[in-house]
Amino acid sequence: MEINTQKIHSPNPSIQLFIRREDLIHPIVSGNKFRKLKYNLIQAKLENQTTLVTFGGAFSNHIAALAYAGKQNQLKTIGVIRGEELASEVDKNPTLSFARQCGMQFYFVSREEYRKKDSVEFLQKLEQLFGSFYLVPEGGTNELAVKGCQEILQETDTVYDFICTSVGTGGTISGIINSSSSHQKVLGFPSLKGDFLQKDIRKFATKSNWELINDYHFGGYGKVSDELVLFLNSFYSKNKVPLDPIYTGKMVFGVIDLIRNDFFPKNSKILLIHTGGIQGIKGMNEVLKSKNKPIIDYND
Ligand SMILES: *Cc1c(COP(=O)(O)O)cnc(C)c1O
Repeated sequence: MEINTQKIHSPNPSIQLFIRREDLIHPIVSGNKFRKLKYNLIQAKLENQTTLVTFGGAFSNHIAALAYAGKQNQLKTIGVIRGEELASEVDKNPTLSFARQCGMQFYFVSREEYRKKDSVEFLQKLEQLFGSFYLVPEGGTNELAVKGCQEILQETDTVYDFICTSVGTGGTISGIINSSSSHQKVLGFPSLKGDFLQKDIRKFATKSNWELINDYHFGGYGKVSDELVLFLNSFYSKNKVPLDPIYTGKMVFGVIDLIRNDFFPKNSKILLIHTGGIQGIKGMNEVLKSKNKPIIDYND
């Protein structure tokens, strides 16, 4: 897999900023979701499973990635989708349309039922409906996913002092922590509110050279502000790197803000991990348009 790292504009000349373009791994499927699925696909085949089941919301990068990976590997895919109302809106929803084109079959459930998705009863019901399957958790995070994310950092990346990544369920950052060097610090920027993440990351991470920065979730998962959208557009004009508004955009906003506030020591070299998520921009713009808000615009 070819790796692409780009230098980007830093608001402080004594601090060097680079971005690892994991988003370029695939035009639709998020880079980190690809990595998270790699060893799970191998495991599913070892177990002779022909169907993958997973869970997700209306604009889930993970749903899109799993649908695509299933198609590539000739595996049947079932997506348990949060929100019954979405059943009639697949055509209008770019993420779900893409997943359906890849052959994914949907099972729409109410928010209430979705909350019970990890219960034995619910999993038994899925087995009655779809037969035997390999289960990939929501967001794709498990031990094998972390193993895949350990391949994000390369040997030559030891030159960086800080490695910054966005955090959803914590699988990606756990892999990065495990393959980082002890002299490096890994900073995670959660895109949702909540304190459960520390514990989840500790479950998978084998080192303690990391910290979560909780100031840049912009109100929670899937929430964006005009300020963030305008930042994304201006970052694109300066660097020609498209960022997604849910994950990487918030992390990069945070890092630039921290540089301005002298958080990083002089002469720091920072590596930003662009985890992808570009497929979600269309859906987000539909929502922003309907609210008469500024939209994400990466046309020159
Ligand atoms: C899912 C996702 C993340 C978060 O990854 P976790 O392993 O859940 O922490 C970050 N960026 C993008 C683009 C994603 O799709």
